[in-house]
Amino acid sequence: MKILIVDDSSLIQKMVSGMLVDLGYECESAENGRVAVDMLAEGNLYDLILLDWNMPELNGPGFLDEIKAKGLNKSPVVMMTTENSMDHIQTALGKGASEYIMKPFTPDILDEKIKYVFESAA
Ligand SMILES: [Mg+2]
Repeated sequence: MKILIVDDSSLIQKMVSGMLVDLGYECESAENGRVAVDMLAEGNLYDLILLDWNMPELNGPGFLDEIKAKGLNKSPVVMMTTENSMDHIQTALGKGASEYIMKPFTPDILDEKIKYVFESAA
């Protein structure tokens, strides 16, 4: 299982990739939506994408729009959001995200969410 983390915070990238590796997942990171679109366009495949909302170059909703337009929306996307941006959730789900997870989260919550998304997709 390979997971792509899309977040402009290198701290979040490190934290989440550490959790994923401990949970037994393979993972890669992209620092914004633009880099992530390029990775998908190059043919890289991921079982799941963890997506931040606020990022330079191309933000979370922009990323969702672009992968849909380019037919690169093959992986389930989990939006990582904060409590004060609940209004973002409906927008993200409307743009094709499968689920959302509230930052900050524990490894247990992350694992539960990943398994739930995989089960729903199966
Ligand atoms: Mg951010």
